[in-house]
Amino acid sequence: MKFWETKKLNEMTTEEWESLCDNCGKCCLVKLEDDETDEIYFTSVVCDLIDLDTCRCTNYAQRCKLVPECIDLKQHDDFKDYTWLPSTCAYRLLADGEPLSSWHPLVTGDATSTKEAGVSVSSYAVKEKDIGDDDLQDYVLDWIGKIL
Ligand code: SF4
Ligand code: SF4
Repeated sequence: MKFWETKKLNEMTTEEWESLCDNCGKCCLVKLEDDETDEIYFTSVVCDLIDLDTCRCTNYAQRCKLVPECIDLKQHDDFKDYTWLPSTCAYRLLADGEPLSSWHPLVTGDATSTKEAGVSVSSYAVKEKDIGDDDLQDYVLDWIGKIL
């Protein structure tokens, strides 16, 4: 049995917890919130600190200092506050009692398998620095077709 099949999220070592991230980059997409409905919309605009080839943060240790909007996911089992996490996110899947996806690097043994499966934002995201401040709404995603 693999550790993610036997341990709860809050029982994992830091190394195990960190290895669960599949580097899809979806949580690094800029989100818009509707003031009236509180509904959250993902855009295809992504944080400037991401490396769009690997979808890894280029300054993970300092991320919350450098990007105040960056959310440090806490290691616990109850992800009810993280409703905005995409359905493919490994933390969400395990918190909901679901198995990891077949393309997850821990399952395939290949660090590039998320990108190769077309699940990462690599193929469509644009960086914040490359768009105008007033143009964000033009990048709201239609998740159907974008999310697996
Ligand atoms: S959405 Fe989840 S799996 Fe994807 S990069 Fe973010 S934390 Fe990692
Ligand atoms: S600081 Fe890093 S982890 Fe946080 S949103 Fe930006 S790229 Fe993602």
